[in-house]
Amino acid sequence: MTDRVLVVEDDGPVRDAVQRGLALHGFDTVSAVDAEAAMVEVSRRAPDVLIVDIGLPGMSGIELCTRLRALEVNTPVLILSARDQVGDRVAGLQAGADDYMVKPFALDELVARLQALLRRSKIAATAKPSTITVGPLWIDEARRYATVGTTRLELSRREFDLLATFATNRNLVLTRVRLLELVWGYDFDVDTNVVDVFVGYLRKKLTAAGAPPLIETVRGVGFVLKDH
Ligand code: CA
Repeated sequence: MTDRVLVVEDDGPVRDAVQRGLALHGFDTVSAVDAEAAMVEVSRRAPDVLIVDIGLPGMSGIELCTRLRALEVNTPVLILSARDQVGDRVAGLQAGADDYMVKPFALDELVARLQALLRRSKIAATAKPSTITVGPLWIDEARRYATVGTTRLELSRREFDLLATFATNRNLVLTRVRLLELVWGYDFDVDTNVVDVFVGYLRKKLTAAGAPPLIETVRGVGFVLKDH
C-alpha cells in the first residue's frame, strides 16, 4: 500500500518541492499550511508519517508534535527545519519527533529517512501495546514517555521505571523491598530510603503537571498508585 505523507509547511515553494519529490518516489502526499490544519488532517485520516516545519504561523511545529503525542497519536514525525542548532534538534526530539533534518535537504536522504521511520513504525505496530493509562496519567513504556493530560513529564530513568512499575501494578501495595527489586534490580538488603526519596521526586513532578495525588503511602507497608 502506498504510504501517505502529511507535509506541514507554510512556505509554498518548499511545500510543493517536497510533495513533488515524494510523489516521484511513490509516496502519496497531502499538505497543511499550519499546525491547526495538520491537526484537522490527522483526525480526518491519519497519515503514515508527518514532515513538519518548526516555524509555522501560530502553533509551532514543536508544539504540534507535543500536541499529537499528548493525544496518543504515535505517527512518526520528521522535523524538516532551517534551524540547525543543537537546541532546536533537542527540543524537537523531546517534543516527540522521531527524526530531524535541516534545510536545505537532499531529497534522497529525506526519502531514506522516511522509509526508515515507516519501517520502524510498522514493526512497532505489530509489537504488543505498551501503553498504560491511569486517570490523567498516560505512559508509553516502549517510548519511555509519560504525560499527565497534555503535559509531558520530564523523568529520569529511575523515575520513569518507578512510575511504570507503579502503573503496571496499580492498586497493588508494593513494599519498599519489592520496589527496589523491580526498579533498581536489587535482591539484597540496601537502604530502602532511596525508594522514599524517588517517590518524593515523582509525587512532586506529578503534582506540578496537575495530577491528583496518585501515589499513596501505606503506613508500615509501602506505596500504592491508585486508580481513582
Ligand atoms: Ca516556515
